Amino acid sequence: MAKLINCECGRVVRGETDEELLANAEEHVNRDHPELVGKISRDDLLAMAEEA
Ligand SMILES: [Zn+2]
Repeated sequence: MAKLINCECGRVVRGETDEELLANAEEHVNRDHPELVGKISRDDLLAMAEEA
């Protein structure tokens, strides 16, 4: 099931699967929120996810 995460910066990260969503979200965090790397777990990201 496709899901999305509305990031606090306004960016919407999408994925067709949980794995794709997490990969895209981690890429976004690495690029745009380097201060959060290592502070947001995959469980945190999934908790932020909504059904697309
Ligand atoms: Zn962001």
